[in-house]
Amino acid sequence: VKIAVPKETADGETRVAMVPKVAAKLAKMNVDIRVAKGAGEGSRIPDDAYDDPVQISDQAADIFGADIVLGVNAPEPKQIGEMKKGSVLISFVQAHNNPETVKALNDAGVTCFAMELVPRITRAQSMDALSSQASAAGYKAALMAANALERFLPMLTTAAGTIRPAKVLVIGAGVAGLQAIATAKRLGAKVFAYDVRTDTKEQVESLGADFLMAEGVKAEAEGGYARELTDEEKKKQQDMLEKNMADADAVITTAAVPGKPAPKIISEAMVDSMKPGSVLIDLGASGGGNCELTKPDEVVTHGSVTIHGPSNVPALLAEHASEMYAQNLFNFLQLIVVPEAGQEDAKPADKTHKLEIDWDDEVLAKSALTHDGQIVNDAAKQALE
Ligand code: NAD
Repeated sequence: VKIAVPKETADGETRVAMVPKVAAKLAKMNVDIRVAKGAGEGSRIPDDAYDDPVQISDQAADIFGADIVLGVNAPEPKQIGEMKKGSVLISFVQAHNNPETVKALNDAGVTCFAMELVPRITRAQSMDALSSQASAAGYKAALMAANALERFLPMLTTAAGTIRPAKVLVIGAGVAGLQAIATAKRLGAKVFAYDVRTDTKEQVESLGADFLMAEGVKAEAEGGYARELTDEEKKKQQDMLEKNMADADAVITTAAVPGKPAPKIISEAMVDSMKPGSVLIDLGASGGGNCELTKPDEVVTHGSVTIHGPSNVPALLAEHASEMYAQNLFNFLQLIVVPEAGQEDAKPADKTHKLEIDWDDEVLAKSALTHDGQIVNDAAKQALE
C-alpha cells in the first residue's frame, strides 16, 4: 500500500497530516510512505526529520498517484484530478463550503473519507479530529484573550495593591469551549460559561466555572449536538447574555450547529454593552462568526472593544495540532489498511498490508463522502443540491 502526504496549499495552513513520530509507527506496518518535500515546514518539521523508510518526494505524480493520500485539507481540484480511480483521500473536506472539491473527487472516482464526518461514537474517539483540533483552538483562544487584554487574568495581591481577577465568559461549552474554560481558569480568571445544551452545566462546573442559564432555552439535538434556536429563544438568550457581557473582560465564543453557519448570538448592541478595553475572541469566525461584527482573520475595533476573528486557530498551534491530527489519521488507517490474507498472525516486521474497505463498518460508512463517482453522504448531498 502506498500512502502519501502532500504539502498543504490553503492560505495560512501550517499543519501537516503526518508527523515523523506517527510516520515511524506507520512504517512498521510495511507500507510505503511518501511525504512531499517541505510538507512539514509550517509545523517546524524539516524533511530530514522523517526517518527511513519514509521517503521525501518532490514529484506530484509520486504523491497524488498513491493508494491513500492524507491531508489536513483536501488537495486542490487539479491535484485531485491526478489521483488514481479507486484511490482514497482522508482529510477535512467541509463539502458544503467546497463544492468544487467534491466534484473533483467524483470525477476522479476517489473514495474520500471526510474527517469531520467521523461519527462521535466511543470506538471512534481516537480518530476524532474535530475534537483534537477543537481542543487546540479552545486552548489558544484563551491565550489570545489573555494576550489581547491590557489586564491581568489572575488576582494579584501585591505591595502596589490588589488586582481583581478578570472575568471571562465562554459561550458554547463543547470541546473547544471546555478547553478555553480550563485554560482561562488555569490562568486565574473567574470564568462563566453558557451553552444551549444544559447538559454541559455539570462539565462546566467540574472545571470550576459558573454555568449561566437562559430561562426556557434548552436545545439539545441528536448525537449530543445543539439545534438552531427559535427567534423567541434567541431573544431570551441574548437578554441574559447581554447582562453578563457587560460585566466580562473577555468573551470567547465557540458556538456551532453541525452543517449550519455559526449561530449569530452577539449583536452590535451587546458589544456596545461591554466594558471599554474588553475583548471578544470569536472562534465561530470561519463559519461566519458568532458576533455580527466579526470579520474573518481581522481584528475589528468597535468603540474600544476589540473583536478577533481567527479562522484557523489550530494552525497557530501547528506542532501539536499536527501531531494529534496525524495520530487521529493513524488510528483511522487501521480500519482500512489491514493485514493481507494469511498474515494476521505473522510477526509485525514481516506482516504486509492491503487496502480494504469494510462498508459494514459504521465509522467508514458514515465518514465516507464520495465513492465510485457518487456522493455517498446524505447531508452533503442535500447541502450541494
Ligand atoms: P460543536 O463544535 O458543534 O458546537 C460547540 C458548542 O456550541 C456545542 O456545545 C453547542 O451546544 C454550542 N451551541 C450551539 N448553538 C449555540 C447557541 N446558540 N448558544 C450557545 N451555544 C451554542 O460541538 P462539539 O464541541 O464538536 O461537541 C458537541 C457534542 O459532541 C458534545 O456533546 C460533546 O460531548 C460531544 N462529543 C462526543 C464525543 C464522543 O462521544 N466521541 C466526542 C466529541 C464530542
